[in-house]
Amino acid sequence: MTASFPRAEVVIDLDAVRHNVALLAGRAAGSAVMAVVKADAYGHGAVPVARAAVEAGATWLGTCSLGEALDLRRAGLSVRLFSWLDVPEVDFGPGILADIDLGVSSVDELRRIATAAQQVGRRARVHLKIDTGLSRNGCQPADWPELVAAAAASSDVDVVAVWSHLACADEPGHPSIDIQAKRFADAYDTARAAGLDPLRHLANSAAVLTRPDLHFDLVRPGIAMYGLNPVPQHEDLRPAMTFRAAVALTKRLPAGESVSYGHTWTAERDTTVALVPAGYADGVPRSLSGRMDVWLGGRRRAVVGRVCMDQVVVDCGDDTPAVGEEVVLFADGRAGEPTAREWADKLGTIDYEIVTSMYRPRVQRRYL
Ligand code: PLP
Repeated sequence: MTASFPRAEVVIDLDAVRHNVALLAGRAAGSAVMAVVKADAYGHGAVPVARAAVEAGATWLGTCSLGEALDLRRAGLSVRLFSWLDVPEVDFGPGILADIDLGVSSVDELRRIATAAQQVGRRARVHLKIDTGLSRNGCQPADWPELVAAAAASSDVDVVAVWSHLACADEPGHPSIDIQAKRFADAYDTARAAGLDPLRHLANSAAVLTRPDLHFDLVRPGIAMYGLNPVPQHEDLRPAMTFRAAVALTKRLPAGESVSYGHTWTAERDTTVALVPAGYADGVPRSLSGRMDVWLGGRRRAVVGRVCMDQVVVDCGDDTPAVGEEVVLFADGRAGEPTAREWADKLGTIDYEIVTSMYRPRVQRRYL
């Protein structure tokens, strides 16, 4: 297949996103789905992914920052929006006016939101976060009764939900899951005892797939929407992101010639190499030098020598690919192409980090 694009591109298959969201919605039947589209939808593009998720049944969208949520509202997304983590200096007013629900982790944060609500003349919708054991944001259990009482007494906020986040849901059976679930139940009981009637949400992708007892009113899947499976068992998820480029040049190298900076690889026999215009400035980690393949001409071929800023060199042996021929850096792996998971395993990280770091100005993004 020949390609007409000049450099590297990321292709997002929105049908795959719709398939994955529909699968998650089916698994969480009876609970609403909040599609987590923070960090530019994990590098996939927040607005197109959010639209696809809504088409597939999500009725909420979740972001980290208020700015991310406001961008979605401005793009015309009219579903419920929830943003949960901002810097203390943030102005909550525009978020309240745009009907964005806000996460609250402390009495201090509640007061800042209440003040903003007074200023804009509209009650704020808040979701009180209990820290059940991840020890990041969220209210410590010891301070929870005070936060609940303050929220219940405030005429500037409506408490929509009580929520928390799991530390080890991707390790089904991990004892912390039940410990967190118990603390979550206690926090909910405290809110009820204070006269509140909040929704509950706790489940990330892994808990959607493995813990139906923790789905409650609303689930918050992120990574599985993008087709990346966070749990050990097989799931019918379709990775939505393909990272591809095209051959820019081929050349014959005589045996004994070395390739790229540092001459870390030397041709043992005459061979044809293909130059691919994608380097570490485009998202190919330099630390994969000498240990990555690409998919070219219907098979895997080794990238040889060091990954450069703008290009990599692929050993093609006695084959000579056409200039413009497609080179897949990672894809869904169905044909045997490298995957984001494979990169992550080699790099000692998680596929979340691989796809999220693919948002780069030099790399085109295209949607199917
Ligand atoms: N909820 C919160 C608060 C998160 O921070 C995240 C992502 O980290 C998610 C839900 C989605 O998690 P996952 O991508 O593992 O499904």
